[in-house]
Amino acid sequence: MLVAIDGPAGAGKSTVARAVADALGFTYLDTGAMYRCVGLRAQDPGFDPHGLDIAFDGDRVLLDGDDVSEAIRTPQAAQAASRVATDPAVRAALVARQRELIADGAWVAEGRDIGTVVAPDAEVKVWLTADPAERARRRGIPVDDLVERDERDAGREHAPMVAADDAVEVDTTGLTIDEVVAAIVALVPQRNEVQE
Ligand code: C5P
Repeated sequence: MLVAIDGPAGAGKSTVARAVADALGFTYLDTGAMYRCVGLRAQDPGFDPHGLDIAFDGDRVLLDGDDVSEAIRTPQAAQAASRVATDPAVRAALVARQRELIADGAWVAEGRDIGTVVAPDAEVKVWLTADPAERARRRGIPVDDLVERDERDAGREHAPMVAADDAVEVDTTGLTIDEVVAAIVALVPQRNEVQE
């Protein structure tokens, strides 16, 4: 069982996906953290996206055994992630790893291409949005930075950020987190069984 949550930066994906996973007893997968890890290493000599060991330990993100949970959250790391995310070799390596992870169990995975590329058969697909001014305010970054990243993510040749045809759009502008979480949980068919 997979709930796929895609959408642009600052729409609330991480907060909402984590809360939906908690509410349903599912495991949360932050695919953006994986691209951020690759972004940290992309300038290294001999860089090979297949050679990186990216792991999650609760809320911590481990890259080749080092805790990079804070290092991946800077605005520079976000821009580096969005640059490496245009590279088809990077995408192929990460998509393969993501498919392995979600193959068993019940997951809430968030990113840009979960419902379109990683798991087109996901049982539930959500496209989470909010208006750009609100998204920039939530991230504490200039709206231009956010728009630059959105445009790179939406305009790239390989797996551009786009809503799946069968995704349910949830616009979070002006909604509380609880309202958004409730709207998504209501889309999950087995939620009653899972909560018992
Ligand atoms: O979601 P987050 O802001 O952490 O993602 C960082 C960057 O990683 C995005 O701007 C995007 O370029 C890339 N990304 C992606 N596909 C995903 C998740 C993230 O291309 N599934």
